[in-house]
Amino acid sequence: MTNKILIIGAGQAGMQIADSLREEGFTGSITMIGDESQLPYQRPPLSKAFLYGEADEESLEFRNQKFYADNNIELVLGDAVVNISTTENGGVATTASGKTIEFDRMALTPGSVPRKLEIAGSDLDGVLYMRSLADARKLKERWEAAKNVVVIGGGFIGLEVAAVATKAGKNVTVLEGADRMMARAVCPFTSEYFKNAHERRGAKITLNARISHFEGANGKVSGVALEDGSVIPAEIVMVGIGVLARTEVANLLGLELANGAILVDEFAQTSNPLVVAAGDAVMLPNPTGSEGLVRLESVQNAVDQAHVAAKTLLGKRESYHALPWFWSDQADIKLQIAGLSTGYDQTVVRGNPDEDSFSVLYYKNGRLIAVDAVNHVSDYMAVRKCLTNAQTIPADAAADSSVALKTLVTA
Ligand SMILES: Cc1cc2nc3c(=O)[nH]c(=O)nc-3n(C[C@H](O)[C@H](O)[C@H](O)COP(=O)(O)OP(=O)(O)OC[C@H]3O[C@@H](n4cnc5c(N)ncnc54)[C@H](O)[C@@H]3O)c2cc1C
Repeated sequence: MTNKILIIGAGQAGMQIADSLREEGFTGSITMIGDESQLPYQRPPLSKAFLYGEADEESLEFRNQKFYADNNIELVLGDAVVNISTTENGGVATTASGKTIEFDRMALTPGSVPRKLEIAGSDLDGVLYMRSLADARKLKERWEAAKNVVVIGGGFIGLEVAAVATKAGKNVTVLEGADRMMARAVCPFTSEYFKNAHERRGAKITLNARISHFEGANGKVSGVALEDGSVIPAEIVMVGIGVLARTEVANLLGLELANGAILVDEFAQTSNPLVVAAGDAVMLPNPTGSEGLVRLESVQNAVDQAHVAAKTLLGKRESYHALPWFWSDQADIKLQIAGLSTGYDQTVVRGNPDEDSFSVLYYKNGRLIAVDAVNHVSDYMAVRKCLTNAQTIPADAAADSSVALKTLVTA
């Protein structure tokens, strides 16, 4: 009998688990604990609307205080679980402030932390990361005064910050260590488009960048030194070189990990039968049904996997099968991705990159598996629907951009 559920991590996935537990009719106690001090909030706007000044802190909150009271969800904020033990039927968690919380079953949704760049000068003021509201506040405090912004890492978050900075009239340089941008997620064609698009909007992009150290004066960063001896002036350095799953609590519980993340099955079940896990911190069976394990860092995954995790906590087993999707807003460019392109052997480009509107369809063994859509909602929606329904679109027909994709869907 499950009466007391503890959720560790009050972010996107934790919030959804609490929500789904009540939607599923769970009437027992729910305690959700988060080590950040503000009400649970959305992260995507931090590098977009919040940085532009178009969204304030309150607008980021998933729910207001009343929601938690109305739904009898005990929220413990600004405190972290630092110790935990379980028996066959339940367990007890201890927080940094000494609070103890008993539970029958538990959900682990601790998210991730930015990978740190440990080089000389990395402790200088102005060397920043972007994961939390606290990080975004630090960036905003320094924003007005900064003329020169260097972004290290040409991934989604780095490029979103670069786009805001360029639009604000700052001198922006993006330093990417690989030979193309967003290389983990998109094909060379899409990478090349984004390089050109950011350059056209005023950013300088250096690929294959070799960073030596940060230079500073009076404790503040003043530039980024490259191995070739050049120094790029910077009052703000935004480091966006990926994230690492948070596994502190999983390690205390001795949970099985895979590639440094918490291993779960298709029911979001960890190696401890009392514990489910969801979100960025998790390595899961590919939800598209293909072979292998994946780690997905997206709102869609956190939300959809959390639904499954909540059901598992209540003994209603439903396996996690969902089409991954993702978006990134970079200035006036909206990138939407549906499906997973891993292992693709063919691409079809539709539309016109020079007009900032096109899509790239990814195929594997003749079957459509994913799309990158740039300011092209109709192609994105057509592929998303098609893949959700396990259908395909023949590549040769898709190559004709004048034909609407949704008319080409076949079984
Ligand atoms: C700047 C930014 C922009 C993004 N933009 C997009 C986007 O455009 N599209 C998209 O799909 N995704 C985007 N994402 C990714 C998306 O926000 C994440 O995938 C999502 O938040 C993951 O949810 P989560 O619950 O796993 O982790 P989180 O939302 O990070 O929540 C985890 C919480 O657990 C807390 N925690 C960890 N350990 C403990 C502990 N021991 N005790 C108590 N609390 C603990 C953490 O501090 C954190 O508050 C963005 C992320 C960032 C940072």
